[in-house]
Amino acid sequence: MTTFYDDDHEAFRETVRTFVDREVRPSMEDWDRDGLIPRDVWRAAGKAGVLGLRIPEEHGGAGVDDYRFRCVVQEELAQVGAASFASGTSINDDVVVGYLRRYGTPEQQATWLPGMATGDVVASIAMSEPGAGSDLRGMRTTAVREGDTWRLSGAKTFITSGFSSDVVLVAARTSEHEGRPRLSLFVVPSASEGFSRGRKLSKVGLHAQDTAELAFDDLVLPTSALLGEEGSGFHHLTHQLPLERLSIAWRALVAAEAAYAWTVEYTKERQAFGSRVIDFQSSRFRLAELSTELDVTRAFMEQAVLRLGAGELDATTGAKAKWW
Ligand SMILES: Cc1cc2nc3c(=O)[nH]c(=O)nc-3n(C[C@H](O)[C@H](O)[C@H](O)COP(=O)(O)OP(=O)(O)OC[C@H]3O[C@@H](n4cnc5c(N)ncnc54)[C@H](O)[C@@H]3O)c2cc1C
Repeated sequence: MTTFYDDDHEAFRETVRTFVDREVRPSMEDWDRDGLIPRDVWRAAGKAGVLGLRIPEEHGGAGVDDYRFRCVVQEELAQVGAASFASGTSINDDVVVGYLRRYGTPEQQATWLPGMATGDVVASIAMSEPGAGSDLRGMRTTAVREGDTWRLSGAKTFITSGFSSDVVLVAARTSEHEGRPRLSLFVVPSASEGFSRGRKLSKVGLHAQDTAELAFDDLVLPTSALLGEEGSGFHHLTHQLPLERLSIAWRALVAAEAAYAWTVEYTKERQAFGSRVIDFQSSRFRLAELSTELDVTRAFMEQAVLRLGAGELDATTGAKAKWW
């Protein structure tokens, strides 16, 4: 029905579906209860070839830049309502992989990417702080250069996979220019001395997603932990935004499509006042409107994904997708 996907994407869909049926669908309620997705599931995803699609082959990934394969993964996870796993794996595959590929040194890439492809390494990105959300200028976490090391101090909050991650890309102030902080990014192993995790935060949704607070207490890093250019952290963060926004927007779209399909099923099964709920005209009007909104959204989103593939997705279109 659509020209967006070709036979390769559909063949890959079968792989993802098999993985989801075997590893995800039967256990999701346990994950929600525990507030955590077991590491074995990440490893199973790595083994099935569902993780690390954008990781270069030399580092154990599939080396596939066509984002439509990631779209397939997100769709299949949405079909079973596995939003928590979808968001955690998206931070790995859509966000952290992007930073390591673009800004990582060969050493940083060789250290972290192979584990991210197998599911042995879960990654996070830590920008937000209690006093720094939309406005990153409020960031208080600092990294101070001391000879051959950086000393990292501060706290982060709302960090996706923060409770379980093995490596965290941390944004910190490294200097100031005309009263504004200059940010830099650091690759921080969670096994570092001075790294600690706070509580898992309870949320209205994404219950299996371990969103957590992190703290860095005089954490000493080698100079090789710097990711990208010193002082260019804000620029690096904004450069990655189009894909990050698109990935969130796509997840929202496919979740809405799945919710719509479940709703139609439910209204067909449910009886009230002597007929099926779907047979009431008001239900049909509402469903017709929702179906239209979804189709129009999908048309826009597919164009955005194709533009990403052509290297033409600008920050504004990414922002529009996420806002919508
Ligand atoms: C489930 C979840 C996972 C997350 N994962 C991560 C993660 O992995 N890493 C990470 O770094 N962060 C993460 N975040 C944090 C997220 O990026 C922040 O929540 C976001 O940046 C907004 O910041 P804030 O919550 O402090 O809200 P604020 O920025 O304080 O905003 C509060 C309110 O003020 C409004 N507001 C803000 N600016 C303006 C303005 N200029 N004009 C008018 N109104 C305004 C906002 O719309 C909002 O209603 C996550 C958040 C959630 C909920």
